[in-house]
Amino acid sequence: MNVQTLRITGMTCDHCAKSIEEALAGMAGVVEAQVSYDEGSARIKTEAGVDSAKLIDTVQGKGFDAEVLDRKGSTVAKGVSDRPHISVVDTPTPSLKPRRSSRGALEVAIIGSGGAAFACAIRAAEEGAKVTLIERGTLGGTCVNVGCVPSKIMIRAAHLAHLQSAHPFDGIKKQAAVIDRSALLRQQQGRVEELRHAKYESILESNPEITLVRGFAHFGKAGDLMVKQPDGKDKRLHADQVLIATGAWPSIPKTPGLRDTPYWTSTKALVAEQLPEHLIVYGGSVVAVELGQAFLRLGSKVTLIARSTLLSKTDPAIGEGLKAALAAEGMRILTHTAVKQVSFGRKWFRKRFRVDTGGEALLGDRLLVATGRIPITPQMGLEWVGVRTDQRGAIVVDDHMRTSAEHIYAAGDCTTQPQFVYVAAAAGTRAAINMMGGEAALDLSAVPEVVFTDPQVATVGLTVAQANELGFKVESRTLSLDNVPRALANFDTRGFIKLVSERESGRLLGAQVLAGEGGEIIQTAALAVRHRLTIKDLADQLFPYLTMVEGLKLCAQTFTKDVKQLSCCAG
Ligand SMILES: Cc1cc2nc3c(=O)[nH]c(=O)nc-3n(C[C@H](O)[C@H](O)[C@H](O)COP(=O)(O)OP(=O)(O)OC[C@H]3O[C@@H](n4cnc5c(N)ncnc54)[C@H](O)[C@@H]3O)c2cc1C
Repeated sequence: MNVQTLRITGMTCDHCAKSIEEALAGMAGVVEAQVSYDEGSARIKTEAGVDSAKLIDTVQGKGFDAEVLDRKGSTVAKGVSDRPHISVVDTPTPSLKPRRSSRGALEVAIIGSGGAAFACAIRAAEEGAKVTLIERGTLGGTCVNVGCVPSKIMIRAAHLAHLQSAHPFDGIKKQAAVIDRSALLRQQQGRVEELRHAKYESILESNPEITLVRGFAHFGKAGDLMVKQPDGKDKRLHADQVLIATGAWPSIPKTPGLRDTPYWTSTKALVAEQLPEHLIVYGGSVVAVELGQAFLRLGSKVTLIARSTLLSKTDPAIGEGLKAALAAEGMRILTHTAVKQVSFGRKWFRKRFRVDTGGEALLGDRLLVATGRIPITPQMGLEWVGVRTDQRGAIVVDDHMRTSAEHIYAAGDCTTQPQFVYVAAAAGTRAAINMMGGEAALDLSAVPEVVFTDPQVATVGLTVAQANELGFKVESRTLSLDNVPRALANFDTRGFIKLVSERESGRLLGAQVLAGEGGEIIQTAALAVRHRLTIKDLADQLFPYLTMVEGLKLCAQTFTKDVKQLSCCAG
């Protein structure tokens, strides 16, 4: 009998330890496995001949990293290596032996053609599968066509327009930007088409093993995968494995009158030929604040109505700080306000919306509804194949993207996972690995999130409230940006950096950032959370002087020092 000890990194709770323990205990030759979250280690009793590399592979397969320790606690073998394994660790993974069905290569059908679908298709094809993508709309899905790409182009253009009249430097003449909306739109859509071609169409062209079928995919009563084709006829498809990656669409509230009006969703707003005079934004979500600010900066008057606060799911200070920043630019923001009734185009309003909040009737020439996005799962016959959804219609998946139905996986915005394209793509790749007989879990313990307002909102891990709810005893510090040299040099000290740590161990549990370029700051915090670094680790780490990310170190140092007493570059 051998006893092997592994150091495990990346666990965030007892549940992680339990899932690793179960995976190790299920291995051939393992007699007993004990995994301790507190100690970050595993103690495994094995029969002779069980290779420690296999133990590491199993831990990595659950989404964590591991290294073998000798009796003195020194590292003997590390998990990140070029040994063959299929895992979530972002090291290149060698090919699996292609799985084959009785008909030849494994046949994988993928519903959708967005980020999740393409990631899965590419990986499955690389591993030898024959892949069929089914798409009922525009190839490429949300991100490239009507989501991340066009919105970030529009936001960037609006940012530069804003700086022309509102930059902070004395010696540069400020002037109102002259906006040519048609030219902006042409350029934006040109880049969208370019990227759609480079990242989607050309992949189909260069991968003969991936075929595109046009139509609406659904499951029949007998559990068959069917595609309603553009001519209305149903076609039956054979598939050994299926991935559902149907994305999400805007959730439209049941506000009286709203559905009878020509309201915009983000899709319409992004390609608007004309800028509204007065845009009313209904919602306090990510899309609401991002696009609301972009229109404001391009010259529209903007009123935003939010049922609770802005970005209500994160630390309240974020919503308050963002509200102050947007209001300072001239946006009118009504928080804790319900929309009672919407109407459009009544004679005396001409072509205008009237939005009643109870206390006030707002008139605007455009109304953008941005109250969140819900999974696209209705009318797909999921009930015929036993795919379980939650009360929002999101497909319930485990960390391997398995649904409740055998051989049916799901990934991206149509699932219970966070709605970001990098999560969708990571889930798609891992689903492909699992379909092909590999073993890959998606670790969502440290998902960085960015809201592309200015200042940006960037978060990772737990807020104080969430940590308390999970039973952590926490400590937190907030550093205002007038303590960050880069922000002072930029003459833009709006915002703050807040760090949340576990009191006893000092381990970083979360970070909330409101700052210009906050999205560039958060990835460092995400790595720190994922790899269980402590506040001390951050405070002792070298950060380049005059970068915004240096604020993380400064904030970490405030756990033990008064920031005003630190030297200029805070060694
Ligand atoms: C305005 C906006 C801005 C965003 N900005 C960002 C950002 O900056 N960063 C970020 O990470 N995320 C952003 N997102 C979110 C991101 O776009 C999504 O998380 C991501 O695109 C989801 O990818 P997916 O593969 O799950 O679904 P999608 O890309 O939505 O693909 C689903 C596809 O399935 C097709 N489909 C649906 N049902 C069927 C069916 N039954 N049969 C056949 N085809 C079907 C659809 O037509 C669609 O093409 C933004 C979203 C929006 C709306």
